[in-house]
Amino acid sequence: MNRSTELFQRDADAVSDVMKLRFYPMVAKAAGGALIRDADGREYLDFSAGWGVANTGYGHPRIVNAVCKEMNRLSFSPTISVLNEESIELAERLREMTPGDFEKAVWYGHSGSDANEFLYKMIPAATGRSRIVSFVGSYHGQTMGSYSMSGHPAQGKFTGGGNVTRIPYPYCYRCPFERDRETCGLFCLKYVEDFVFASQVSPAQVGALIAEAVQCDGGDVVPPDGYLQGLERMCRRYGILFILDEVKIGFGRTGKMFGFENWGVTPDAVVMAKPMGSGQPISAVTGRKELMDAGVGMHMFTTAGNPVACAASLATIDVIEEEKLAENAEIQGEYLLGRLRELQAGCPVIGDVRGKGLVIGIELVENPETKKPASELAALVVYRCYELGLLLFDSGISANVIELTPPLIITKQQCDRAVEVLRQAIEDAMTGRI
Ligand code: PLP
Repeated sequence: MNRSTELFQRDADAVSDVMKLRFYPMVAKAAGGALIRDADGREYLDFSAGWGVANTGYGHPRIVNAVCKEMNRLSFSPTISVLNEESIELAERLREMTPGDFEKAVWYGHSGSDANEFLYKMIPAATGRSRIVSFVGSYHGQTMGSYSMSGHPAQGKFTGGGNVTRIPYPYCYRCPFERDRETCGLFCLKYVEDFVFASQVSPAQVGALIAEAVQCDGGDVVPPDGYLQGLERMCRRYGILFILDEVKIGFGRTGKMFGFENWGVTPDAVVMAKPMGSGQPISAVTGRKELMDAGVGMHMFTTAGNPVACAASLATIDVIEEEKLAENAEIQGEYLLGRLRELQAGCPVIGDVRGKGLVIGIELVENPETKKPASELAALVVYRCYELGLLLFDSGISANVIELTPPLIITKQQCDRAVEVLRQAIEDAMTGRI
């Protein structure tokens, strides 16, 4: 029995199934840059960046140093009651980084889920309006409020929550209104005002709208130009807070520090987590002070904003800025999209290739005419890629989208390698060689 199999068996006995979303039998042992080594010494190119966390690559020396130094200096202080310099410096930095000429404050947590949960509690407290609008296909987390705001099938077994109205995301490849992107005039936006607000929910009851500027777990869907701007204008018309969840696409992934900057909108609050601490558990919400200060003591955790995680985040921001990782994401993203579109040209099961910077989706279909989702094929491709040394996961409401969110440090050669493995994996999955 190899080491990975042994560890898998021990995990099966000891770790709750509730926290298992396993795509392949991988046990990570060491990592550096974009590469991970497993417990048996096999090396993999990680094109998921551990679900979009390792934007700076694994084990970046500056981040390792920052964490070790802070751990030696001030291993902990409970930011909720005893201040530390790092959490203050990081808050000031995050306020500067996020747009908006209004007064801002920052809240700290540990995950995208608890950050969205903060908003679920704070929105009614700040606005006196109990309803929230979110999107079909969205994923905001696993706690009660973040779960409720999501519209992803992963939430299918959940029965709690409420006060959320879900509207269709502008998923042009599968337009819910069967319109054409060139001529639709953004009908999906009109639908919200003319139908949802006219007949289902009064906008006067809606405190906030929460969106992902690129909908990741819903299938890595990039909205058409003009959509987010239109959404922002609609929110302003009705006095609805415009909130953007940047948990997966923030910190350089789309070619800008924040994904929404690609469309020039100004949210009232921004949610951040995953890459912000390069793996140290830290999340934040930055937003209008009146929203952020609405419920004193209503959502706070003992280890949130701790100095070590904040030091990791400050070093992460430095690395992204100084090493121009957002710029690299744009360059490599363009290149990768081009290579994947070449692959698509000879491969009818690839229905759509889309992305912004280094968040890319390859949508697999059984037939390009019917667009029937090829979910089983996607699972086989993901598994075969793992066997061939490339790590990635699937996304989408039907789990038929291969998601590529590699570290932002990747090179052209690594992109070429990933495309080659994908080509081979699709061929092997289709010809039953797996
Ligand atoms: N928001 C978005 C857009 C996400 O993609 C995720 C996780 O995938 C979350 C929130 C939840 O983050 P976490 O898993 O850190 O709780």
